[in-house]
Formats: sequence, structure tokens, C-alpha cells
Amino acid sequence: MARLVDTYGRRIRDLRISITDRCNFRCLYCLPESEESADFFRSSSKAEPHPIHREWKPKSHFLSYEEIARVAEVAAALGVNKIRLTGGEPLLRRDVPKLIEQLAAISGIEDIALTTNGFSFLKNSVALQKAGLNRVTFSLDSVDSSNFKRLTGREAFKDVMESIIRAKELGFSPIRINAVIIRGLNDHEIVPLVRFAQDQGLEIRFIEFMPLDSGRAWQKDHVVTGSEILGALQAEFDLKPLELEHASATAKRWCVVGGGPEIGLITPVSEPFCGQCNRIRLTADGKLRTCLFSLKEHDLKPLLREETDDEALSQWLEDVVLKKERGHLIGQDQFQRPDRTMSAIGG
Ligand code: SAM
Ligand code: SF4
Repeated sequence: MARLVDTYGRRIRDLRISITDRCNFRCLYCLPESEESADFFRSSSKAEPHPIHREWKPKSHFLSYEEIARVAEVAAALGVNKIRLTGGEPLLRRDVPKLIEQLAAISGIEDIALTTNGFSFLKNSVALQKAGLNRVTFSLDSVDSSNFKRLTGREAFKDVMESIIRAKELGFSPIRINAVIIRGLNDHEIVPLVRFAQDQGLEIRFIEFMPLDSGRAWQKDHVVTGSEILGALQAEFDLKPLELEHASATAKRWCVVGGGPEIGLITPVSEPFCGQCNRIRLTADGKLRTCLFSLKEHDLKPLLREETDDEALSQWLEDVVLKKERGHLIGQDQFQRPDRTMSAIGG
């Protein structure tokens, strides 16, 4: 049986699908509102502010739900068993439960997860669950409402809290929080974020800040590394290391001894984990990316709109996966930022 395997022997299991490049938040590290807000980071640099890089696409450029489900079905027949919907903010797209229903019906798809900023989760929560959503990850970088506003550009802390509580009431499990920690912005919240996760019975993942922000303000100094985060946590909690979730897992995991949240550290900058990567990404406008940092994208949309049969589509996917990069080069001289930013690629 055909499989998606790259030239380094990595078997692709995980398809990340961005369903929109739009977002209602303006996180400073992702899609800052203005040049000034992006410039906020630049305190230690004399570089010229970079114009905000946005590339909204008209609706007709997005894949339809039927097109997305078709790609997922062909990929599932080639061994993909896990799908994560992301964006932009995925819940800005209409009728997301309809897409989830189509994905849940695909043989071989065992896990459907959603990454969301949480703003619109509350009103969609029951429909999402009924449609077959298995897991939800909320982005939450602050447990202080005014710092939350500073980081996201939105007065939405209360909405996100209500969404997390509703997800708990509905029994989603696990519920995870993603937190990006940036020096000088929320590094004082590492411990409070874990306490929040502990109180609410959530898992938490700390993600290193990557050079994919639309303000192009990323500098190495802004990155609070996984080992710094671990140090801050060890000063406060008695931590026990956990096994990797599976061989291709991105997070090194810990838990608080005596009962506490599972804590994951995702360290693409300080300790890349490309060697075991099992992911590919589909952008909202139908480009397949073999790495978050790919400099080349593979356009699937024309094939989907030219009545290509499933066999040709499978062959195309197999060929593209063979072009998967060995790894990214963040921190090395040869590193080149991709043209597209995190919100347009899908985080
Ligand atoms: N809007 C949704 C959300 O925020 O959860 C989904 C899309 S967002 C791009 C997905 C994840 O990427 C979020 O957890 C966010 O914190 C993370 N992210 C965005 N920009 C990042 C950056 N420059 N470095 C590291 N993580 C980033
Ligand atoms: Fe929007 Fe998510 Fe990016 Fe924040 S991290 S700006 S919520 S896409």
C-alpha cells in the first residue's frame, strides 16, 4: 500500500489544515495591528521598522470544504491519521462543524483537533463537538486581562475564559493551552500560566517565539528558550519528566509531582526537532507545505479544480512529500524567512 514517506524515511501522519488566513486578534508575535505595535519589540535593535506584511486573499482563493475533505481523504489513504484545523483564526470561517463532520467520516482519520484563540469557541462549542471534534487547543499567553489585551490587541480575556470553561463542561479532553513567551512581555507569567492550568485541569505547552511574525520584528533576544522556561518552573515546582507522547511529538513533557498539569516545551529555535517530523501543511488557498519554514510551496488547487482523479492526486502527494526538507535553519547564517507569515501558513 502506498505511503507518504520522505527521503529521510519520515512517515507523514499529521496534516495541518489552515482554513482561513484571517484573524480577529492581533497578537504582537504573529499579526501585529500596526508598524508601531510590531516595533514594540525592536527596543534592542536599530533596524528600520519593516512594513506589516499582510496578504488577505479574496474568498474565491480559499479551498472549499469539499476540496479540503478530498485532500484529507486521499492523504488518509496514504497513512495520515491526524488532522489539526488552524489558521488565521479557524472559527472565523463559517460552518466549521460541517467541515469537521466531513473529516470525521473519513476512514483512517483517528484524531481531529482545533487550534483557536477561543474568542468564538463558546457559541460554536456544542456543534463542534457533535460534528466530531476530538481535541481543542486554546492560545493563551497571559492570565492577566490587561497583559492579554497588550499581547493580543483585543479586550477578549473574558470571552476566552468562558470558552475554556465551556470546553471543560463539555468534557473535551485533553484541553490544551499554547503559550508563546516573549522576553519583556509575558516572561513574568510563566508560573501564573502553569498555576492557571493546574487550577483548571488543563495541559499547557510553551512554544518558543519563531521568526514568522508579520511585523518581522523577531530577534533571538526576544526568544525565551525552553531551558529558561524550565528553569523558571523548576524554581517553583517539583517537576518530573514524562516520556515523549510518540516518536514524532514536538513537545518535551513534564508534570508537577503530586498532581499537576502536563507541561510541554516546544523548542523549534533552541533545540529543533525536525529529525522526527511527521507533518505536512495545507494552506487555506490550497498550497501544500512540507515544513513550516519551507521556501517553496506546492500548488494543489489547480489539480483539485481540474478534475484530477484520486490516483493522480495520491501520486502528486507522494512526490511532494519526497521534497520535504531535512530541517529548518533558524539561528544559522543560511536561514531565510519564508515569504508567508504564521497566520497565513497556519500555525
Ligand atoms: N488563531 C489560532 C490561535 O491563535 O490559536 C490558530 C492559529 S495560530 C497561528 C496557531 C499557534 O501559532 C498559536 O498557538 C500561536 O500562539 C502560535 N504562533 C503564532 N505566531 C507565532 C510565532 N511567531 N512563534 C511561535 N508561535 C506562534
Ligand atoms: Fe490570530 Fe492566532 Fe495569530 Fe493571535 S496567534 S494573531 S489569534 S492567528
